[in-house]
Amino acid sequence: MARAHVLLLNPALGPLDYRADRDHPVENGSIVLAPLGPRQLVGVVWEEDSLPSADQVGDNRLRPLLGVYDVPPLGAPLRRLIEWTSDYYLAPPGAVLRMALPSSSALDGSRTITEYRASGVAPGRMTPQRQQALDRIGRRQGLIRELATVADVSEGVVRGLVKAGAIEAVTVAIDTPWPLPDPDHVQPDLSDEQTLAAGTLSEAVREGGFRPFLLDGVTGSGKTEVYFEAIAAALRMGRQSLVLLPEIALTEPFLKRFEDRFGHLPVAWHSELRQSQRRRAWRGIVHGEARVVVGARSALFLPYRNLGLIVVDEAHETAFKQEDGVLYHARDVAVMRAKLEGIPVVLASATPAIETRHQAAIGRYTELKLTSRHGGAAMPAIDAIDLLVDPPPRGRWIAPTLVRAIEDRLARKEQSLLFLNRRGYAPLTLCRTCGHRFQCPNCTAWMVEHRLLGRLQCHHCGHMTPPPAACPECKDEDSLVACGPGVERIADEVALLFPEARIAIATSDTLSTPARAAEFVERMEAHDIDVVVGTQLVTKGYHFPDLTLVGVLDADLGLSGGDLRAAERSFQQIAQVAGRAGRGAKPGQVYVQSHAPGAPVIQALLSGDAQSFYDAETEARRVADAPPFGRYAAIIISAEKSEDAAATARMVARAAPRIEGMQVYGPAPAPLAMLRGRHRQRLLVHARRTLDVQHVIRDWFGALEWPRGVRVAVDVDPYSFL
Ligand SMILES: [Zn+2]
Ligand SMILES: [Zn+2]
Repeated sequence: MARAHVLLLNPALGPLDYRADRDHPVENGSIVLAPLGPRQLVGVVWEEDSLPSADQVGDNRLRPLLGVYDVPPLGAPLRRLIEWTSDYYLAPPGAVLRMALPSSSALDGSRTITEYRASGVAPGRMTPQRQQALDRIGRRQGLIRELATVADVSEGVVRGLVKAGAIEAVTVAIDTPWPLPDPDHVQPDLSDEQTLAAGTLSEAVREGGFRPFLLDGVTGSGKTEVYFEAIAAALRMGRQSLVLLPEIALTEPFLKRFEDRFGHLPVAWHSELRQSQRRRAWRGIVHGEARVVVGARSALFLPYRNLGLIVVDEAHETAFKQEDGVLYHARDVAVMRAKLEGIPVVLASATPAIETRHQAAIGRYTELKLTSRHGGAAMPAIDAIDLLVDPPPRGRWIAPTLVRAIEDRLARKEQSLLFLNRRGYAPLTLCRTCGHRFQCPNCTAWMVEHRLLGRLQCHHCGHMTPPPAACPECKDEDSLVACGPGVERIADEVALLFPEARIAIATSDTLSTPARAAEFVERMEAHDIDVVVGTQLVTKGYHFPDLTLVGVLDADLGLSGGDLRAAERSFQQIAQVAGRAGRGAKPGQVYVQSHAPGAPVIQALLSGDAQSFYDAETEARRVADAPPFGRYAAIIISAEKSEDAAATARMVARAAPRIEGMQVYGPAPAPLAMLRGRHRQRLLVHARRTLDVQHVIRDWFGALEWPRGVRVAVDVDPYSFL
């Protein structure tokens, strides 16, 4: 009898054994359907010795597998990656496996799917709900469930509209083949530096084997064009490439550049895909027909048939760190996948993370530098505005020097970008009469006023309330005042100063989908916008030749958090946003507003001497044994009752092993002491680089039991200290 050892798509379970058909044994990696109690679950056949079962079930008690899907098995490198990720980030292997497999519907071979869209026929009877559904659905197409979600109505309302003829069914083929991008569609126009770097990368792709590269190029130096040549090399060999991007909003401009170079779009993978698109993409990936995949971090775990190259663009971005579910860092996992697949990996950035620079410094990564801007554009001039010397008038945030600079740009028909990393109108609303502050009921956070949306919103849990007419505490009317600026308030200030200017706000609220981001890019390129006010979303990826002025409104903001990467992150953010200025023929000017223009971060930006800033930061990390020289793991304990979280946190601390080279700090209430209605306590483990911290934590926790309702999460290599 043949046994099949199967890892199921269920994070709560370890691998289970099943009976396989003796005449048709299943190979490792095969995707199968298996019974679990009364249910049927998808799973993957796994090596017994690499993921042992908790208990052996006798041959006579094994249940038979229900079927094997007709898709290629998950390759051994991906199976090893899933084990490594599970092991390193202390996550159940079933939870990691989920990222590799879509819903079972993509697995069965049916070649069509039924989607729905508005037919243009008005329903016989119109109700407010039906009207809302039709308005919001617009020209979208999708499953009934997807349309109901978009329209914020029940599936019953959408079904009613189908019956009434206002929504019609469409048959969509899901296995339409993907067009092959053409490596010779156009001949790229590269500088000498770019040609050299592109040659090295292409050679590495042709040779194969694990080679990590740091592609370190100043903003506007054309890093994308360089790694496009490596993709071209992979295409010529018939192999797949994966490009990871940090933000979904950035995909659309990227797709356009890709299409210009290769004649066809790559395959996109992100959370906004409809189910039919997701199925088609997954099937193209697993069969090897989707040659170039561009995606968010989740694209990293997909079962590529024939992967030849991984690129992580904007590799310094903290958006690559997954902050819920499996807490992994896509940049680090990408390097591990390349190692297991035996292929090159390229980390591209104008402001590489200290961790990455260190790998290059000690020779583990090959560094390729691009020191000048593409097409002969100059780097922008950067000047500080000392807010103590040159302050804006009371109640305003744009200093006179910056106002004059915007005025100049408007006169010359050039574009300006004002950067403030705060969404909404004001970060805090308070009552002038009694001092009441609007706080989220679920989180230790202020409610942020969003005037455009007409509501107060918590940026941590999404809780929303309409802006109240009176103070809930003292009942005074018209007593509420907005404190501090958000991007919307800055946009108001610009409108007041320059009533003629065409202003756009660019944040995750306004550019929430690839389509909206694409529309923003089109308007910028058509010069329908004079002044953009944006958050960190506009700091990267965009290339607007007429944008010649960048104003950083509050350079001190990022430094207030005080965690280990605060200075580095500030530097990266300001350098990236400054890099949007003067990318075309016209020179760029950057003004950085600060109360402390003498701070090392700002001095490094002004002098253009990034190296000495990084050297000083790296040295400070070395002295503190902070990453990359030492390592951290955060333990977050949460519960609905504050005392439950605190009691468990004390129990965890008491049980902490005493090990040479490791300290445990805490417990202490987390800075975000309450999040989504749960009280949070934190412990921080600080260990020597060489210590197997995961092993220590597994042993430590293995002897403990968590009370009901208490959750304990471990964040290995944490980026958030909240
Ligand atoms: Zn009040
Ligand atoms: Zn909240």
